[in-house]
Amino acid sequence: MVNYVSDAAASAGDMPFFSPVEALDEGALRALQEARLRRQYGYLRERSAFYRRKFAAAGLGRDAVQSLDDLRKVPFTTKQELRDSLKAAPPFGEHLAAPMADVIQVQASSGTTGSPSYVALTRADAIVWQESSARSLFACGIRPGDLVLHGFSLSKGFVGGLPIFQALQYMGAVDIPIGADGGVERLLAAAFDLRPQAIVGTPNFLLHLAEAAKSQLGRDVREIGVRRLVVGGEPGGGIPALRRRIEDAWGATLCELMGGTDLAVIYWAECDHQDGMHMTAPDFIVAELIDPDSGETKPFTEGATGELVYSAIQREASPVFRFRSGDHVVVTGTTCRCGRRQPKIRCFGRTDDMLIVRGVNLFPSAVQDLVESMRPAVSGQVRLVADFEGHSTQANLKVLVERAQAEPPGVSLAALKHDIESRIRGALAVKADVLLAPHGSIEKPGAAKIKLVLRSMPAIAGLQ
Ligand SMILES: [Zn+2]
Repeated sequence: MVNYVSDAAASAGDMPFFSPVEALDEGALRALQEARLRRQYGYLRERSAFYRRKFAAAGLGRDAVQSLDDLRKVPFTTKQELRDSLKAAPPFGEHLAAPMADVIQVQASSGTTGSPSYVALTRADAIVWQESSARSLFACGIRPGDLVLHGFSLSKGFVGGLPIFQALQYMGAVDIPIGADGGVERLLAAAFDLRPQAIVGTPNFLLHLAEAAKSQLGRDVREIGVRRLVVGGEPGGGIPALRRRIEDAWGATLCELMGGTDLAVIYWAECDHQDGMHMTAPDFIVAELIDPDSGETKPFTEGATGELVYSAIQREASPVFRFRSGDHVVVTGTTCRCGRRQPKIRCFGRTDDMLIVRGVNLFPSAVQDLVESMRPAVSGQVRLVADFEGHSTQANLKVLVERAQAEPPGVSLAALKHDIESRIRGALAVKADVLLAPHGSIEKPGAAKIKLVLRSMPAIAGLQ
């Protein structure tokens, strides 16, 4: 039998990370990345019709990419280019760089805009995905032998489904494969029976599970004894007030992770110190930070913000190079007591979700963060009503805020509304028209990710 688990994990015992790569010093990592970068550049020129054309159009010759600095000469790859490529040569596009006979797996992104992007994996690619995801799950506190309740969607989720199952199995943990789409009751029943050490899922769904245990079963999920909550799929895990609420509800530590189908499953993950996600796969993916407007590369210094751009440096079937992820992040640190040497980030939004209100860029999660921090004066549920074409409006932004179950005495609704509007204006420079919705009237997240932005005003009685 082949033992795929990395030697580091097998022999690590109490090692704080899954792979020694996570702690390589800058010089050693750079040498490794540049060797793989040169190889990958040659591979793309040889095997990918898409990149051969792109490199030629940019005047990039055989030896054009020798170092990380040379990457800047390479034009970006956008999601739209990948969609066009998929359409031009189904099923995997003109950027497929491996023979179909070598492909063993298909995955797809569940993008918020456009059609899903399908990606192909060879056997070697699948192992790279499992290794990088295992490192991330390990950073978030999951250990070999742990039982892990699968709270992402298993059937609809694509990346949140099978690849997470595979990564957990690869690292020697046990996935309880029910999935968010398996139903809250079944998930809770399994959790109370099997007492998992960890749960993976979206932050809002884990909160929903805890609340459903109380309201439907009259039980407290703290009885289960879960140690770690591992969340991703939406920015909520990075919102301090929401994180505290979820941790309180479960009596467990919450760590966040992030990734995406175009590169791998998960390659950013938070360690025990809970202040941002480390890159966990720098030997497979080169991450750059860019100014989203100018396209200029920026160093990963603490406090820097920008969009992430990725180049796969160990990928066979569907490799992308200088791919604009659309993930907007802030660098929260460059050193860490855990021993990992990779910078830490927090994601505050995606280009796809961004609204432009009277010329001001606004990520919906920022409004959620603000309203969440006003609890218990409000319930914490919030929706943005973007009832206009596209992503840009010249009107005030309509924001639905759900009222608290028990409102503080002596505060008028008009004053509450005014308070929220002025906080939004003060913190985000956006003029909002707040509508207060009765408690319990905003639809709670089920299995799927929470949709903060609605494209039309929902029919809710008693809006104030
Ligand atoms: Zn750390």
